[in-house]
Amino acid sequence: MSGPAITPLRTPGRAPRVLTIDAEDWFHVCGDDYYSDPRRWDAFPSRFERTFVSLLDRLDRGAHRATVFFLGWIAARHPDLVREAARRGHEIALHGDLHRRADELSPEEFREDLRRGAERLEKASGARAELYRAAEWSIRSPEDPALSVLAAERFRADASMTSMPPLGRPENLLGPHRVETASGPLVEVPPLTGRGFGRRVPAGGSWAFRVLSPERVALSEASYRDRGHPAVFTFHPWEFDPEHPPMEGLAAVTRLVHFAGRRRLPQRFDAWLSEERCVSLGEAIAELRAA
Ligand SMILES: [Zn+2]
Repeated sequence: MSGPAITPLRTPGRAPRVLTIDAEDWFHVCGDDYYSDPRRWDAFPSRFERTFVSLLDRLDRGAHRATVFFLGWIAARHPDLVREAARRGHEIALHGDLHRRADELSPEEFREDLRRGAERLEKASGARAELYRAAEWSIRSPEDPALSVLAAERFRADASMTSMPPLGRPENLLGPHRVETASGPLVEVPPLTGRGFGRRVPAGGSWAFRVLSPERVALSEASYRDRGHPAVFTFHPWEFDPEHPPMEGLAAVTRLVHFAGRRRLPQRFDAWLSEERCVSLGEAIAELRAA
């Protein structure tokens, strides 16, 4: 069995808490016959501006720094909000153009989506994004050809790969690592996970952060950070929207991910933010050393 060479990386000492935001609107779900079709998106009522700005306001209170992964589609429609996030000190990164799962695209299609998203984001921000996250953790393993495309397109880091089945392979590393792709090196930083129901489960955002007890999330976070693994948390502006449009006909799993525990999120999130200052992914990567 041979794959790309992998070097585990760690933070010397205790690793930081990392905040990431996937900047997308409420209808940007994956794999749905109705909502995932970009030809429909401009007809949906956008909730992005108000939910995104209110999330940025929450972060201002504690001088938190986040990495914001923008869809190119969003950057093209809200270039002012890309600049606003940068002006407030956040790191601008790419979430692809049209929120397609990476493993459902050929390497050529993946490259095309990546380039288009990167161009739209650069046009809005004036700078090239160097960090990437695929929709729905859809880079599955270090052998995935998407990593090589990312390196060839001058991305230096990716945050798309988890070891949580069924999204990622259980043998994927829990902590950050450098992957030597055919097109050059790339730093991979996986999201925070924990143990539950006898298996690995998410702990750093989305439904898990909303549904699991704060104590359980804190235990997972401590176990990562004590080992020198940055604890990467991820949130979406639509999770905080009290007027989120109802979504008829969603598959049960998508519905759970989208809606479970949302009522308690704002208060829980603010309490979590007040515990300590979050840093961006770029800041956390700068501290990593070969383990
Ligand atoms: Zn997304």
